[in-house]
Amino acid sequence: MSPFNPRVRSERLSGQIAIALYRIAQAIQIMVRRAGQVYGLSPAQVQALLFLAYARPGVRTIGGLAQRLQATLATTSEVVDALERKALIAREPWPEDHRVIGVRLTAAGRRRVTDLEHLLDDLEAAIAELPETDQQSLHRALQRIVRRMATAGHVVVYEMCWGCAFFRPNVHPENPAAPHHCAFMDAPLPDADTYTECPDFTPREEVPT
Ligand code: SF4
Repeated sequence: MSPFNPRVRSERLSGQIAIALYRIAQAIQIMVRRAGQVYGLSPAQVQALLFLAYARPGVRTIGGLAQRLQATLATTSEVVDALERKALIAREPWPEDHRVIGVRLTAAGRRRVTDLEHLLDDLEAAIAELPETDQQSLHRALQRIVRRMATAGHVVVYEMCWGCAFFRPNVHPENPAAPHHCAFMDAPLPDADTYTECPDFTPREEVPT
């Protein structure tokens, strides 16, 4: 019954799609590796730099990075050590909790992110060649598959606030520095943070109103 068996998957569209997604995942792994090799970075180091560029400020910690890399704290610390030696990131204290170690990009790290963040361009170009209606159908179908994978614990979805069930926009008009609110953390949100990626994102449609 395995879709890896060509004879089996020739009889099953879901198997053909599963193998197509497997090949795309392989292609992405290769694209990440090649982009990193140009700058002497491992795939985990590339992922760490992109994470620090776009993750919600509250998760830019060693623990947050470990969750993103799906790695242990020890392995994540090695990634952080290597990037620190390259002067691309820096550890920093976490004022709210002295046991937590924050991590931030340096100016050189931000420049390296600019070098790296085009690594999916070939994939996006292939998608952009599809008719608009196909792109919309593909997007809807992939979102459902990703949510199913997330529910099964195979992936953590990082998204920005604007589609999140916990997001309360513009409920603090008296506070221009943080006019929005996150009901998950029960904390005000600066506007800029609502456009960062959050591991606690929960799609609105998954929470009954
Ligand atoms: S839980 Fe939702 S609203 Fe709160 S920061 Fe994360 S994405 Fe934004």
